[in-house]
Amino acid sequence: MPRKLAAGNWKMNGTLGSISEITALSKACPDPACDVLICPPFTAIASFAHAAKGTAISIGAQDCHANASGAHTGDLSAEILVDAGATHIIVGHSERRADHGESDADVNAKAQAAWRAGAVAIICVGETEAERDAGDALKVVSNQMTGSIPDGATAANTVIAYEPVWAIGTGRVPSLEDIAEVHDEMRARLAARFGDDASEMRLLYGGSVKPSNAADIFAVSNVDGGLVGGASLKASDFAGIVNAAG
Ligand code: PEP
Repeated sequence: MPRKLAAGNWKMNGTLGSISEITALSKACPDPACDVLICPPFTAIASFAHAAKGTAISIGAQDCHANASGAHTGDLSAEILVDAGATHIIVGHSERRADHGESDADVNAKAQAAWRAGAVAIICVGETEAERDAGDALKVVSNQMTGSIPDGATAANTVIAYEPVWAIGTGRVPSLEDIAEVHDEMRARLAARFGDDASEMRLLYGGSVKPSNAADIFAVSNVDGGLVGGASLKASDFAGIVNAAG
């Protein structure tokens, strides 16, 4: 079984002053039994990465442009993010798919950009509520995996996050059986496409993970950790989730 990963996605929250949460988290979890990642806003990556040096916490980014450089005002390449200290880059989060119209092909290109720069790509997939109600959750997730995960994905360069859109930020969580069903299907799809390496590729669950439900979710078959939004903002909450992954 791969070592678990507890990854925090701060989204558009936090300022440079929030660096105190990194210090507090490293104090609360000096020697965690899982890998720990915080993805703050772009502007905080460099200072957070500096503060996290020598701790068990890695710092990542929430998105990147597919190109390495060029005339793309306001965008940031994976190379720039890695230069700032990011070790991981989230791509294809449902909020970016919805707010910025990102397609599976866009996500695929961004994942390859993360690899090109030497970062791990955290590729997000997940169905909407309407798709789940229609009985299409497995089909939607499988199709997103086919389109969003580039050839060449390995356990070392890629993490997949299953995030049902209807569970993000809502306090609603699928049943443990439903999470297991999707994760088992994801593992089978990865094995069919990538062979032996797929058994080591980490599959995160994301969507309203809290300290109170993390241990149960992390014990589900083929769940190798979590991608956590709201509950990653405060070190006191996130420490509970990190400890649940041990
Ligand atoms: C997320 O945005 O990736 C997420 C899972 O958010 P939350 O934990 O707040 O549901």
